[in-house]
Formats: sequence, C-alpha cells, structure tokens
Amino acid sequence: MTLNNLPVRYVKGVGPKMEANLMELGIATVRDLLFTFPFRYEDHTITPLEEAAHEARVTVEGVVHSEPALQYYRAKKSKLTLHLLVGRVLVKVHLFNQPFLKKKIEPNQTIMVSGKWDRYRQSITASYIRFEQNDSPETFEPVYHVTKGIKLHDMRKYIANALETYGEQVEEILPAAALKKYGLLPRAKALNYLHQPANESELKQARRRFVYEEFFLFQLKMQALRKLHREAAEGVAKPYDKQKLRSFVDSLPFTLTTAQKRVVREILHDMEAPYRMNRLLQGDVGSGKTLVAAIAMYSACTSGVQTALLAPTEILSEQHADTLQDWFASYGMEVALLTSRVKGVRRRTILERLQNGETDMIIGTHALIQEDVSFANLGLVITDEQHRFGVNQRRVLREKGYTPDVLFMTATPIPRTLAITAFGEMDTSIIDELPKGRKPIDTLWAKKDEWDQVLEHMKQELRKGRQAYVICPLIEESETLDVQNAVELHGLLAEALRKEAKVGLMHGRLHGDEKDETMRAFADGEIGVLVSTTVVEVGVNVPNATFMLIYDAERFGLSQLHQLRGRVGRGSDQSYCVLIAEPKTEIGQERMRIMTETTNGFELSERDLELRGPGDFFGKKQSGVPSFQVGDPVHDYRILEAARKDAQAIVQEERFWTDDAFESLRKTLPEEVFFD
Ligand code: ADP
Ligand code: MG
Repeated sequence: MTLNNLPVRYVKGVGPKMEANLMELGIATVRDLLFTFPFRYEDHTITPLEEAAHEARVTVEGVVHSEPALQYYRAKKSKLTLHLLVGRVLVKVHLFNQPFLKKKIEPNQTIMVSGKWDRYRQSITASYIRFEQNDSPETFEPVYHVTKGIKLHDMRKYIANALETYGEQVEEILPAAALKKYGLLPRAKALNYLHQPANESELKQARRRFVYEEFFLFQLKMQALRKLHREAAEGVAKPYDKQKLRSFVDSLPFTLTTAQKRVVREILHDMEAPYRMNRLLQGDVGSGKTLVAAIAMYSACTSGVQTALLAPTEILSEQHADTLQDWFASYGMEVALLTSRVKGVRRRTILERLQNGETDMIIGTHALIQEDVSFANLGLVITDEQHRFGVNQRRVLREKGYTPDVLFMTATPIPRTLAITAFGEMDTSIIDELPKGRKPIDTLWAKKDEWDQVLEHMKQELRKGRQAYVICPLIEESETLDVQNAVELHGLLAEALRKEAKVGLMHGRLHGDEKDETMRAFADGEIGVLVSTTVVEVGVNVPNATFMLIYDAERFGLSQLHQLRGRVGRGSDQSYCVLIAEPKTEIGQERMRIMTETTNGFELSERDLELRGPGDFFGKKQSGVPSFQVGDPVHDYRILEAARKDAQAIVQEERFWTDDAFESLRKTLPEEVFFD
C-alpha cells in the first residue's frame, strides 16, 4: 500500500471513532492527513509591548499577579480576568469562555498569552494561553480546520505522528529542473517545515515550495486545456497588412511605450496564428490601453474582417468612437457607434452597413449585444473594463462572429481578473508602464479642518482653466451623520466656487440619460467641477481635469481610490489628488499613507495585501477564484507566472493528451474559467 490508499487509522492515535470524524473533513488516507495544511499559525514570538500598536496581535510572557476573577454573563458566556506582570508593566488579561482555566491559573505562575492589545486600557484579549512546563516550545504553532469531535490539539498530534512514521515516504512530484531552478525544498522536507516550522524562514521556504507545486499542477491542467481548446476550436488566421499598420503607428503624435509595443507584438502574434486569440490585457489606469485596442482593431480590419469594441457606458463608448474616428477616418476605415441612444433610421442604417460589411469597426454598449445586430464577418471582439460585463453578455457578442479573436481589457490588477485569466486558459498581457512625460499625480492627505486650504488649491487649478472632480461616498444622509453627501457638498461648492466654475452633480439616482448629459458637459468643459459619487469611476478620459478631491476617503478601498485618482493625470500638466480623511484605525491611516507614496497600481495592490496581514496569508478566498490551499494568486503572482511558463513548456512538448483527457480535465474545473 502507498500513502495514497493507506487508511488514516494506520496513524498512531487514530482509532475507528476518530477515523469517522476525520472522514468528515475529507481525510480518508494517510496522504490526506499529511496534506491537510495549516490555514494559519499562532505566532508566539514575544512582542515588546512598548512597540506594539493599538489593536495589534501580541504575545507576552509574564507572572500572574492576582487571582483570576471569573464572571458569567448571558447563557454560558464567561470572562476570566487576571493581572499579569510583564517586565515592569501590569497588564490586564481577558480570557473569554474558558472558565475551566480559573482553576489552572495561580498567582506567581509564569504564563504566556497571545491576543489583541489594547494600548489605552493596557489590556490583552487573549486567544491563546500557554503554561510553560507542559506545552511544546514551538514559536509557530499550526492551526488546522477541525470539526466537531476533533480537538485542534489532537489534530496537531495526529499530523505529527503521521509525519514521524510516514513523512519520509512522501515522494517528489515536481521536475528536478524546477527544484533546482528556483531552489525549492524537496517535498518531504517542505512538508515537515510547513507543519512544524522552527522559525519564519522555514515557514517561508516550505510555503514557497507548495505554492509553486499547487500552481504548477493547476497550470499543467489549464495549459493542457488551452492547447486542446486551440486544437479543437481553431480560429481564423488574420494576415494583417504590416505596411499599413506601420504607417498608422508612425503617424501618431507620440511613440508607443515599450510596454505597449510588447503587448501589441503579443496580440499580433495571436492574430496571425490560426487559433482563436483569447487574451487579457491588464494595464494600470492611464497606461494607454485604448491605443493598443485600436491597433489590434486596425490590423484585424486590414486582413478583411470587422471588429467590435464593447464598453460599459455610453460616454465611454462615445469617447472611444470619437478617438477611433479621429485616428482612422483618413485610413479609409468606417467607424460606427451603437448605443441605446441611437434609434430609428440611424440605427437601421448602422445595422445594415454592419451586416453588409461596409462598417469596419463598431463601438458600443450593451446595445451591441441585441439580437438584431449581425455582422458580415466579425473577426475580433474587444471588451473594455471587462469586469462590468457578465460571462453571458460577452459570449453573445462573440457568437455573432465565426470564432473571432477575443481581447479583454481591465485596469484592475486584482483577484477577480486573475480568476478568469492567469488561471484560465487565457493569455495575459500587461502594460506596466505609463506614457513618458506624465507627471506622477501629487497625492495629499488632508483633515477636515484644512478644508479652506483644499478649496484654495482647487480654485488655483480652476483659475488656470483646469477642471476638478469631487468624489464623496454616499448620496444621502445615512445613519452615520458624519457622512457628507453629494447633494449637500454640491450646494456648498456651487456657492463657494460661484466665481470660478460651474459645478455639476452626478449620482446613482440620476437616470442614465441625465448621467450621460452631465458627464458630457464635463468632458466638453461646460462644467468645471463635477461632484459625484463613485459612478464616475469607469474609464472616462478628461485630460483637462487636474484636480481630484475625495471626501471621506477612508471609506473607500485602496484599489477604488486608485481607480478614482486615475481620472486625473491624463494630460501633461501636474495633477493633484487630495484625500480628505480621518481614519480611526492604524490600518486606515497606513492606507492613506500608501496612497500618498505610490501611484503604481500593481505596487499598491501588493501593499494592500501586505497590510491585511498574515491572517490573510493563507486561504484567501475570492469568489470565482479556484481556491488553493496555500497559494494566494494575488500575493504570489510571480510564482503563478513562473509556474505557468513552466507548465506551458511541458504541455507544448507532450503529445499524449487525448480528447478524453480534455473532457475529464474540464470536469474538474469551475465553469467560469474557460468559457471566455
Ligand atoms: P487607459 O489604459 O486607462 O484606458 P487610455 O487609453 O485612456 O488609458 O490612455 C490615456 C491617455 O494616454 C490618452 O489620452 C491617450 O491618448 C494617451 N496615450 C496613450 N498612449 C500613449 C503614448 N504612448 N504616449 C503618450 N500618450 C499616450
Ligand atoms: Mg480605458
């Protein structure tokens, strides 16, 4: 028997009853038990209290100073309170719902506790207690998911026993080349370290190894799928006109950034190949994705097919249509716009020209998905801000062509995207560079009582002929009275800025038409200041806007703040983003600081995750993301990419994948992953 089919009761200490309990956790074999990873660790490194932040997790060792006092409240709830002398500081320790500890804790005894530190009350709400003599001395203790009938303590014991007896039989499954290339721990050793790390470095190494393993195996499946997919559903090769493309690119008033060039190459490569392109383009706000889309569309058109660009809002569709018309009218391309605003004869004409192949490029909203929209020869579908559309909507448009190439664009370097991409059998292109000459947006953090200075700053920009956004989180007064609402703020600013600019108002309660109208007026410069809730977030390009004011900024997430900030800094002038915020927590304050320190979306999302701390280190579950035991697709993005490349190389060499293999792989994966 191998570990794979050796029943878990072979492990020392596991009897028939416990075996049944373990089965409930899906643990049937010794292998299952060994590969039940901790979802977090109790970190028992002693923390110096004078350095600990309010509400931080701390571990202290001290001498019990008083007889613990036990209090009962409500049904079965209890609180045990004692004083602990830690160095020279007397700290109050609360232990909830462990009344039995009263008998175990005695004055003058040395104990160690971990828990949340209240700096102001000098107290710790402890979640962990250790009595020196009878407990193990590990600094990092693994915490496993357990179920009724299994105590954490026992789970630790079973796993330790299993490691002792069977640990060495764990076989390596990764290619030796990968271990060597990345300096990964051998599997058996890594397993030991993961369950019983002696220090942080062991934990890190073990984790790195299993993250790679997990991603590699997953990618092996995905890449195999992707290969089979391509070979099964072939696409149409589009031999585009290189000459024409070059002359278009040369005619632009600026040169492409290195990143733009790279992703264009990647896209063109797909386009020429006889498989269906299925690619995601990730790029920070303002990185110039529209131009890349335009190049892709134009080159596809030169090979004789039609192209469509789907955008989530009318205003965005109009902007894109204007831009493309500007760029391509003189190249003999017919560019059309279709939104729900286009009706009657105009709509009929557009549909006709689309159907008989006269229109080369069409840009539009959901209106493009309507049943009566059909193409002569749709060869490329691009979706801007793809997360705004459902899987079905995207599919409907795609099915209007014959295996058209597909390109998605997104400005959110965050999980949801990764879910459908890095994992999926989708290719990813990344623009990690802004066009030259952009001045980084100057981000400032202000308090409410600095309002006058902020207003003065905004006036300065307005007097230069620039425009400003003012964003606030809620539209009407909520229960919490301190939330400034858009309506009120609009009134206030209209009065304060009556000499400088016209102030517009936009919020979610307005009708689509009114919203578009206001947005258009702002884009045209009729409105100088736009007070808005976050409806403004999506992709609008008003290069003349140089001032972004975000009210109650602590109420937004980091990535949302970043998206909002990306509305300015789109021209060559210096832009400003002022965050008015009075965050109450350390983390909230840190988030504001991060905003002032970096304007790089990728860096920001990484620091955001760091901030959320080791609690999220393991087992971060995002909806729609296949869940991994150890790997965090966002945090461990680099490993994911490496694993993906390695898996790709292997799959390209292998010839043994059959249709059956394809089908069985397909069944093991969530739908969402491959329908794009
Ligand atoms: P996003 O990636 O957020 O969609 P856009 O495509 O709207 O960004 O581009 C933002 C602005 O940058 C536009 O005004 C666009 O014309 C300009 N732009 C794009 N590429 C370049 C470039 N290589 N050099 C200078 N400006 C560029
Ligand atoms: Mg865009």
